[in-house]
Amino acid sequence: MADVDVAPTPRPGADPSSGTAPSSGPASPQKTIVVSGIQPSGTLHLGNYFGAIRQHIALHTRHEAYYFIVNYHALTTVRDRDALERYTLDVALDYLALGFDPNAATLFVQSDVPEVTELAWIFYTLTPVAQLEKGVSYKDKIAQGLSPNAGLFNYPILQAADILIYGGTLVPVGADQKQHIEITRDTAQRFNQTYASPDDPIFPMPEPYILDDVAVVPGIDGRKMSKSYGNTIGIFDEGKTLKKKVMSIVTDSTPLEAPKDPERCNVFALIKLFASEERREEIAAKYRAGGYGYGHAKKELYEMISDFFAEARERRRELARHPDDVRDILREGGRRAREQAAPYMERARRAVGLITTY
Ligand code: ADP
Repeated sequence: MADVDVAPTPRPGADPSSGTAPSSGPASPQKTIVVSGIQPSGTLHLGNYFGAIRQHIALHTRHEAYYFIVNYHALTTVRDRDALERYTLDVALDYLALGFDPNAATLFVQSDVPEVTELAWIFYTLTPVAQLEKGVSYKDKIAQGLSPNAGLFNYPILQAADILIYGGTLVPVGADQKQHIEITRDTAQRFNQTYASPDDPIFPMPEPYILDDVAVVPGIDGRKMSKSYGNTIGIFDEGKTLKKKVMSIVTDSTPLEAPKDPERCNVFALIKLFASEERREEIAAKYRAGGYGYGHAKKELYEMISDFFAEARERRRELARHPDDVRDILREGGRRAREQAAPYMERARRAVGLITTY
Protein backbone atom coordinates (compact mmCIF):
# COMPACT_ATOMS: atom_id res chain seq x y z
CA MET A 1 0.00 0.00 0.00
CA ALA A 2 1.21 3.50 -0.74
CA ASP A 3 2.40 5.61 2.15
CA VAL A 4 -0.45 7.38 3.82
CA ASP A 5 -0.01 10.97 4.72
CA VAL A 6 -2.78 11.82 7.10
CA ALA A 7 -3.03 15.50 7.75
CA PRO A 8 -2.73 16.01 11.48
CA THR A 9 -5.17 18.91 11.29
CA PRO A 10 -8.70 18.12 12.32
CA ARG A 11 -11.64 20.42 11.60
CA PRO A 12 -11.32 23.85 13.17
CA GLY A 13 -12.43 23.74 16.74
CA ALA A 14 -11.25 20.21 17.36
CA ASP A 15 -7.99 19.60 19.12
CA PRO A 16 -6.90 15.99 18.86
CA SER A 17 -4.50 16.21 21.78
CA SER A 18 -6.66 17.96 24.34
CA GLY A 19 -9.46 15.53 25.08
CA THR A 20 -10.51 15.44 28.70
CA ALA A 21 -11.23 12.27 30.58
CA PRO A 22 -13.49 12.13 33.65
CA SER A 23 -11.56 13.06 36.74
CA SER A 24 -12.39 9.87 38.58
CA GLY A 25 -12.78 7.62 35.55
CA PRO A 26 -10.23 5.04 34.49
CA ALA A 27 -8.34 7.33 32.13
CA SER A 28 -5.78 9.87 33.26
CA PRO A 29 -6.97 13.46 32.70
CA GLN A 30 -4.83 14.27 29.67
CA LYS A 31 -5.09 11.00 27.85
CA THR A 32 -6.56 10.94 24.37
CA ILE A 33 -8.84 7.95 23.88
CA VAL A 34 -9.53 7.37 20.19
CA VAL A 35 -12.74 5.49 19.41
CA SER A 36 -14.52 4.67 16.18
CA GLY A 37 -16.80 2.03 14.71
CA ILE A 38 -17.43 0.47 11.36
CA GLN A 39 -20.48 -1.48 10.25
CA PRO A 40 -20.15 -5.09 9.11
CA SER A 41 -23.03 -4.65 6.70
CA GLY A 42 -21.12 -5.36 3.51
CA THR A 43 -17.70 -5.17 1.95
CA LEU A 44 -15.59 -2.25 3.10
CA HIS A 45 -15.17 0.38 0.42
CA LEU A 46 -13.12 3.38 -0.64
CA GLY A 47 -15.41 5.76 1.30
CA ASN A 48 -14.74 3.80 4.48
CA TYR A 49 -11.03 3.78 3.77
CA PHE A 50 -10.47 7.46 2.99
CA GLY A 51 -13.19 8.73 5.30
CA ALA A 52 -12.21 6.70 8.32
CA ILE A 53 -9.92 3.64 8.20
CA ARG A 54 -6.85 5.50 6.98
CA GLN A 55 -7.15 7.87 9.94
CA HIS A 56 -7.82 4.94 12.29
CA ILE A 57 -4.61 3.29 11.20
CA ALA A 58 -2.63 6.51 11.45
CA LEU A 59 -3.88 7.26 14.97
CA HIS A 60 -3.86 3.83 16.56
CA THR A 61 -0.18 3.73 17.37
CA ARG A 62 -0.09 7.32 18.65
CA HIS A 63 -2.90 7.09 21.21
CA GLU A 64 -4.92 4.56 23.13
CA ALA A 65 -7.45 3.43 20.52
CA TYR A 66 -10.59 1.29 20.48
CA TYR A 67 -12.08 0.34 17.12
CA PHE A 68 -15.24 -1.70 17.06
CA ILE A 69 -17.08 -3.66 14.44
CA VAL A 70 -20.61 -2.47 15.04
CA ASN A 71 -22.68 -5.58 14.48
CA TYR A 72 -25.62 -4.30 16.58
CA HIS A 73 -25.80 -1.35 14.20
CA ALA A 74 -25.58 -3.64 11.18
CA LEU A 75 -28.71 -5.45 12.36
CA THR A 76 -30.66 -2.39 11.22
CA THR A 77 -30.07 -3.48 7.61
CA VAL A 78 -28.64 -7.04 7.51
CA ARG A 79 -31.18 -9.84 7.89
CA ASP A 80 -28.94 -12.79 7.08
CA ARG A 81 -27.07 -14.35 10.02
CA ASP A 82 -24.37 -16.02 7.90
CA ALA A 83 -23.70 -12.79 6.05
CA LEU A 84 -23.45 -10.82 9.29
CA GLU A 85 -20.94 -13.29 10.73
CA ARG A 86 -18.91 -13.29 7.54
CA TYR A 87 -18.89 -9.50 7.22
CA THR A 88 -17.84 -9.17 10.87
CA LEU A 89 -14.76 -11.35 10.43
CA ASP A 90 -14.05 -9.73 7.07
CA VAL A 91 -13.87 -6.28 8.64
CA ALA A 92 -11.29 -7.59 11.10
CA LEU A 93 -9.27 -9.12 8.27
CA ASP A 94 -9.46 -5.86 6.34
CA TYR A 95 -8.17 -3.82 9.26
CA LEU A 96 -5.28 -6.19 9.87
CA ALA A 97 -4.40 -6.19 6.17
CA LEU A 98 -4.54 -2.40 6.05
CA GLY A 99 -2.01 -2.05 8.86
CA PHE A 100 -3.85 -2.34 12.18
CA ASP A 101 -1.49 -3.71 14.81
CA PRO A 102 -3.41 -5.63 17.52
CA ASN A 103 -0.55 -5.14 19.95
CA ALA A 104 -0.80 -1.37 19.65
CA ALA A 105 -4.56 -0.91 20.02
CA THR A 106 -7.87 -2.67 20.53
CA LEU A 107 -10.04 -4.10 17.76
CA PHE A 108 -13.21 -5.87 18.81
CA VAL A 109 -16.79 -6.78 18.06
CA GLN A 110 -19.41 -4.39 19.44
CA SER A 111 -21.64 -7.16 20.82
CA ASP A 112 -18.76 -8.49 22.93
CA VAL A 113 -19.55 -5.53 25.20
CA PRO A 114 -23.35 -5.90 25.45
CA GLU A 115 -23.45 -3.24 28.20
CA VAL A 116 -23.30 -0.72 25.39
CA THR A 117 -26.99 -1.43 24.71
CA GLU A 118 -27.74 -0.86 28.37
CA LEU A 119 -26.04 2.51 28.27
CA ALA A 120 -27.88 3.33 25.05
CA TRP A 121 -31.17 2.63 26.84
CA ILE A 122 -30.26 5.07 29.60
CA PHE A 123 -29.44 7.65 26.93
CA TYR A 124 -32.75 7.05 25.07
CA THR A 125 -34.59 8.14 28.17
CA LEU A 126 -32.83 11.50 28.00
CA THR A 127 -33.09 12.06 24.24
CA PRO A 128 -35.83 14.23 22.73
CA VAL A 129 -37.48 12.40 19.84
CA ALA A 130 -37.35 15.68 17.89
CA GLN A 131 -33.55 15.51 17.85
CA LEU A 132 -33.58 12.08 16.23
CA GLU A 133 -36.27 13.16 13.77
CA LYS A 134 -33.80 15.70 12.43
CA GLY A 135 -31.24 12.96 11.75
CA VAL A 136 -29.81 13.59 8.28
CA SER A 137 -28.44 10.08 7.94
CA TYR A 138 -31.76 8.56 9.06
CA LYS A 139 -33.76 10.68 6.63
CA ASP A 140 -31.30 9.92 3.88
CA LYS A 141 -31.51 6.17 4.43
CA ILE A 142 -35.31 6.27 4.42
CA ALA A 143 -35.31 8.39 1.26
CA GLN A 144 -33.06 5.78 -0.35
CA GLY A 145 -35.62 3.08 0.39
CA LEU A 146 -34.40 1.46 3.62
CA SER A 147 -37.15 0.34 5.97
CA PRO A 148 -37.68 2.88 8.76
CA ASN A 149 -37.20 0.52 11.71
CA ALA A 150 -36.74 1.85 15.23
CA GLY A 151 -33.14 0.66 15.25
CA LEU A 152 -32.33 2.92 12.33
CA PHE A 153 -34.09 5.82 14.06
CA ASN A 154 -32.19 5.30 17.33
CA TYR A 155 -28.88 4.55 15.61
CA PRO A 156 -27.14 7.78 16.75
CA ILE A 157 -27.86 7.05 20.41
CA LEU A 158 -26.34 3.59 20.27
CA GLN A 159 -23.42 5.29 18.58
CA ALA A 160 -23.22 7.80 21.45
CA ALA A 161 -23.08 4.88 23.88
CA ASP A 162 -20.33 3.27 21.76
CA ILE A 163 -18.20 6.35 22.09
CA LEU A 164 -18.92 7.35 25.67
CA ILE A 165 -18.72 3.91 27.29
CA TYR A 166 -14.97 3.81 26.56
CA GLY A 167 -14.43 7.41 27.62
CA GLY A 168 -13.69 8.34 24.00
CA THR A 169 -12.28 11.82 23.51
CA LEU A 170 -11.41 11.75 19.81
CA VAL A 171 -13.57 10.22 17.09
CA PRO A 172 -12.09 9.88 13.60
CA VAL A 173 -15.01 9.59 11.17
CA GLY A 174 -16.08 10.61 7.69
CA ALA A 175 -17.85 13.93 7.07
CA ASP A 176 -21.21 12.10 6.86
CA GLN A 177 -20.94 11.42 10.60
CA LYS A 178 -20.61 15.04 11.71
CA GLN A 179 -24.17 15.30 12.96
CA HIS A 180 -23.93 12.00 14.83
CA ILE A 181 -20.92 13.22 16.77
CA GLU A 182 -22.87 16.38 17.63
CA ILE A 183 -25.63 14.14 19.00
CA THR A 184 -23.03 12.22 21.03
CA ARG A 185 -21.76 15.48 22.49
CA ASP A 186 -25.29 16.60 23.34
CA THR A 187 -25.91 13.22 24.96
CA ALA A 188 -22.77 13.44 27.09
CA GLN A 189 -23.70 16.94 28.16
CA ARG A 190 -27.30 15.98 28.94
CA PHE A 191 -26.23 13.00 30.99
CA ASN A 192 -23.55 14.89 32.90
CA GLN A 193 -25.88 17.81 33.58
CA THR A 194 -28.66 15.54 34.80
CA TYR A 195 -26.64 13.07 36.83
CA ALA A 196 -23.17 14.39 37.65
CA SER A 197 -21.72 17.42 39.34
CA PRO A 198 -20.18 19.99 36.98
CA ASP A 199 -16.69 19.54 38.41
CA ASP A 200 -16.83 15.76 38.13
CA PRO A 201 -18.51 14.78 34.84
CA ILE A 202 -18.94 11.08 34.19
CA PHE A 203 -18.40 11.19 30.43
CA PRO A 204 -15.72 13.27 28.71
CA MET A 205 -16.75 15.47 25.78
CA PRO A 206 -15.55 13.80 22.56
CA GLU A 207 -14.23 15.76 19.59
CA PRO A 208 -14.76 14.67 15.99
CA TYR A 209 -11.70 14.21 13.81
CA ILE A 210 -12.83 14.80 10.24
CA LEU A 211 -10.49 15.50 7.35
CA ASP A 212 -11.78 18.37 5.24
CA ASP A 213 -10.12 17.27 2.03
CA VAL A 214 -11.80 13.87 2.02
CA ALA A 215 -15.37 15.09 2.57
CA VAL A 216 -17.84 12.48 1.36
CA VAL A 217 -16.51 9.97 -1.16
CA PRO A 218 -19.01 9.43 -4.01
CA GLY A 219 -20.14 5.98 -5.09
CA ILE A 220 -20.33 4.72 -8.66
CA ASP A 221 -23.80 6.28 -9.00
CA GLY A 222 -22.68 9.66 -7.66
CA ARG A 223 -24.50 9.35 -4.33
CA LYS A 224 -22.49 8.94 -1.11
CA MET A 225 -20.61 5.66 -1.38
CA SER A 226 -22.26 3.38 1.17
CA LYS A 227 -22.69 -0.31 1.86
CA SER A 228 -26.38 0.41 2.27
CA TYR A 229 -26.71 1.78 -1.27
CA GLY A 230 -25.00 -0.95 -3.30
CA ASN A 231 -22.82 1.64 -5.06
CA THR A 232 -19.42 0.82 -3.65
CA ILE A 233 -15.94 0.05 -4.92
CA GLY A 234 -14.45 -2.39 -2.44
CA ILE A 235 -11.00 -1.73 -0.97
CA PHE A 236 -10.02 -5.24 -1.95
CA ASP A 237 -11.79 -5.44 -5.30
CA GLU A 238 -9.40 -6.40 -8.06
CA GLY A 239 -9.15 -7.51 -11.67
CA LYS A 240 -12.38 -7.76 -13.63
CA THR A 241 -14.63 -6.93 -10.67
CA LEU A 242 -12.74 -3.73 -10.01
CA LYS A 243 -12.58 -2.79 -13.68
CA LYS A 244 -16.32 -3.35 -14.13
CA LYS A 245 -17.16 -1.13 -11.18
CA VAL A 246 -14.78 1.64 -12.21
CA MET A 247 -16.09 1.55 -15.77
CA SER A 248 -19.66 1.90 -14.52
CA ILE A 249 -19.05 5.15 -12.60
CA VAL A 250 -21.71 7.59 -13.72
CA THR A 251 -20.49 10.55 -15.78
CA ASP A 252 -22.24 13.13 -17.95
CA SER A 253 -22.38 12.77 -21.71
CA THR A 254 -19.82 15.41 -22.68
CA PRO A 255 -18.14 14.09 -25.87
CA LEU A 256 -14.51 12.96 -25.76
CA GLU A 257 -13.15 15.97 -27.67
CA ALA A 258 -14.87 18.59 -25.50
CA PRO A 259 -13.21 20.26 -22.50
CA LYS A 260 -14.52 19.00 -19.17
CA ASP A 261 -14.72 20.30 -15.62
CA PRO A 262 -12.82 17.85 -13.37
CA GLU A 263 -14.48 19.21 -10.26
CA ARG A 264 -17.88 18.05 -11.49
CA CYS A 265 -16.76 14.53 -12.32
CA ASN A 266 -17.23 11.50 -10.03
CA VAL A 267 -14.21 9.78 -11.57
CA PHE A 268 -11.97 12.74 -10.79
CA ALA A 269 -13.33 12.91 -7.23
CA LEU A 270 -11.91 9.40 -6.73
CA ILE A 271 -8.70 10.07 -8.64
CA LYS A 272 -8.01 12.94 -6.22
CA LEU A 273 -7.87 10.49 -3.33
CA PHE A 274 -5.08 8.45 -4.87
CA ALA A 275 -3.01 10.85 -6.96
CA SER A 276 -0.16 13.04 -5.77
CA GLU A 277 -0.83 16.75 -6.08
CA GLU A 278 1.29 16.94 -9.21
CA ARG A 279 -0.46 14.02 -10.88
CA ARG A 280 -3.83 15.45 -9.87
CA GLU A 281 -2.99 18.74 -11.59
CA GLU A 282 -1.80 16.93 -14.72
CA ILE A 283 -5.04 15.00 -15.00
CA ALA A 284 -7.16 18.08 -14.24
CA ALA A 285 -5.35 19.89 -17.06
CA LYS A 286 -6.17 17.03 -19.45
CA TYR A 287 -9.84 17.29 -18.51
CA ARG A 288 -9.87 21.02 -19.20
CA ALA A 289 -7.96 20.75 -22.48
CA GLY A 290 -10.45 18.34 -24.12
CA GLY A 291 -9.56 15.25 -26.12
CA TYR A 292 -9.46 13.30 -22.86
CA GLY A 293 -12.50 11.10 -22.32
CA TYR A 294 -14.05 9.70 -19.18
CA GLY A 295 -12.90 6.26 -20.37
CA HIS A 296 -9.28 7.48 -20.15
CA ALA A 297 -9.84 8.81 -16.66
CA LYS A 298 -11.46 5.55 -15.57
CA LYS A 299 -8.51 3.55 -16.85
CA GLU A 300 -6.12 5.72 -14.84
CA LEU A 301 -8.30 5.37 -11.77
CA TYR A 302 -8.44 1.58 -12.16
CA GLU A 303 -4.65 1.41 -12.20
CA MET A 304 -4.32 3.73 -9.23
CA ILE A 305 -6.66 1.62 -7.09
CA SER A 306 -4.94 -1.62 -8.15
CA ASP A 307 -1.50 -0.30 -7.24
CA PHE A 308 -2.45 1.48 -4.06
CA PHE A 309 -3.87 -1.59 -2.33
CA ALA A 310 -1.62 -4.22 -3.95
CA GLU A 311 0.44 -4.98 -0.83
CA ALA A 312 -2.56 -4.92 1.48
CA ARG A 313 -4.32 -7.35 -0.84
CA GLU A 314 -1.40 -9.77 -0.53
CA ARG A 315 -1.36 -9.42 3.25
CA ARG A 316 -5.08 -10.06 3.38
CA ARG A 317 -4.73 -13.27 1.39
CA GLU A 318 -2.12 -14.49 3.85
CA LEU A 319 -4.16 -13.51 6.93
CA ALA A 320 -7.28 -15.18 5.55
CA ARG A 321 -5.45 -18.51 5.81
CA HIS A 322 -5.51 -18.19 9.62
CA PRO A 323 -9.08 -17.35 10.64
CA ASP A 324 -8.53 -18.63 14.19
CA ASP A 325 -5.84 -16.01 14.74
CA VAL A 326 -8.30 -13.31 13.71
CA ARG A 327 -10.87 -14.63 16.18
CA ASP A 328 -8.21 -14.66 18.92
CA ILE A 329 -7.39 -11.02 18.21
CA LEU A 330 -11.06 -10.07 18.45
CA ARG A 331 -11.54 -12.07 21.64
CA GLU A 332 -8.60 -10.36 23.31
CA GLY A 333 -9.85 -7.00 22.00
CA GLY A 334 -13.27 -7.65 23.52
CA ARG A 335 -11.69 -8.45 26.85
CA ARG A 336 -9.72 -5.20 26.89
CA ALA A 337 -12.74 -3.21 25.76
CA ARG A 338 -14.91 -4.62 28.55
CA GLU A 339 -12.22 -3.69 31.03
CA GLN A 340 -12.15 -0.13 29.71
CA ALA A 341 -15.96 0.15 29.71
CA ALA A 342 -16.63 -1.32 33.16
CA PRO A 343 -15.86 1.73 35.35
CA TYR A 344 -17.81 4.11 33.09
CA MET A 345 -20.78 1.77 33.05
CA GLU A 346 -20.62 1.25 36.77
CA ARG A 347 -20.58 4.99 37.44
CA ALA A 348 -23.45 5.55 35.02
CA ARG A 349 -25.60 2.86 36.66
CA ARG A 350 -24.98 4.27 40.11
CA ALA A 351 -25.57 7.82 38.94
CA VAL A 352 -29.05 7.07 37.59
CA GLY A 353 -30.04 4.84 40.52
CA LEU A 354 -30.04 1.38 38.96
CA ILE A 355 -29.39 -0.99 41.83
CA THR A 356 -27.96 -4.45 41.50
CA THR A 357 -29.44 -7.08 43.81
CA TYR A 358 -27.45 -10.13 42.80
P1 ADP B 1 -21.51 2.66 5.37
O1 ADP B 1 -22.33 3.87 5.06
O2 ADP B 1 -20.79 2.17 4.17
O3 ADP B 1 -22.27 1.56 6.07
P2 ADP B 1 -20.32 3.04 7.98
O4 ADP B 1 -21.58 3.58 8.55
O5 ADP B 1 -19.87 1.69 8.42
O6 ADP B 1 -20.38 3.12 6.38
O7 ADP B 1 -19.17 4.08 8.26
C1 ADP B 1 -17.87 3.72 8.71
C2 ADP B 1 -16.98 4.93 8.59
O8 ADP B 1 -16.75 5.22 7.21
C3 ADP B 1 -17.61 6.19 9.19
O9 ADP B 1 -16.60 6.91 9.87
C4 ADP B 1 -18.10 6.96 8.00
O10 ADP B 1 -18.08 8.36 8.22
C5 ADP B 1 -17.08 6.57 6.93
N1 ADP B 1 -17.69 6.63 5.60
C6 ADP B 1 -18.66 5.82 5.13
N2 ADP B 1 -18.98 6.14 3.85
C7 ADP B 1 -18.21 7.21 3.54
C8 ADP B 1 -18.08 8.01 2.36
N3 ADP B 1 -18.78 7.77 1.27
N4 ADP B 1 -17.19 9.03 2.39
C9 ADP B 1 -16.44 9.28 3.49
N5 ADP B 1 -16.51 8.56 4.62
C10 ADP B 1 -17.38 7.53 4.66
